[in-house]
Amino acid sequence: MREETELGRTAKEYMDRGDLVPDEVIVAAIAERIDSTEAADGFILDGFPRTVPQAEALDAKLGELGRRLTGVLLIDAPDEEVVRRLGGRRTCVEAGHVFHVEFNPPKREGVCDVDGSELIIRDDDQPDVIRHRLETYHEKTEPLISYYDHQSLLRRIEGASPPDEVAGEVARTLATLKLEADEAI
Ligand SMILES: [Zn+2]
Repeated sequence: MREETELGRTAKEYMDRGDLVPDEVIVAAIAERIDSTEAADGFILDGFPRTVPQAEALDAKLGELGRRLTGVLLIDAPDEEVVRRLGGRRTCVEAGHVFHVEFNPPKREGVCDVDGSELIIRDDDQPDVIRHRLETYHEKTEPLISYYDHQSLLRRIEGASPPDEVAGEVARTLATLKLEADEAI
């Protein structure tokens, strides 16, 4: 949308009407990036797909481009752990610096270490919004686990581990996938 491409304008029309952008439009936008030189050596999709129809549309489009997914990372954590982590997030109003009351507390409560501005709980991180996001996740996104498990693409990562361990495991898994992909060529 920022670059005012034709696809961006189409997406904006839907959003301006308050409608969800259809899966085909999102997948077409992603496919455009995947088909560019910047993704020639590989790509990571973060937060997409979120539903089985989106995954099917993505598979179809990747097939047309002669590309495929080589792995799907599931960072698996129980709901109460997700609530604990998201609910403790504090974001600075000035520049969006992120802290956590438990895992990465600011030196002074409610104040950003970097620029001294106020820390707030984003709308996304309010308890009732988190619960609603979890409901949506279980209903719409969780079915993707078996979808990708059937394709033998799923890699489970223990999400309840400390954040730096999760990050390390993600990095190791991506490195392994890259090595396997390079060997397969
Ligand atoms: Zn800040």
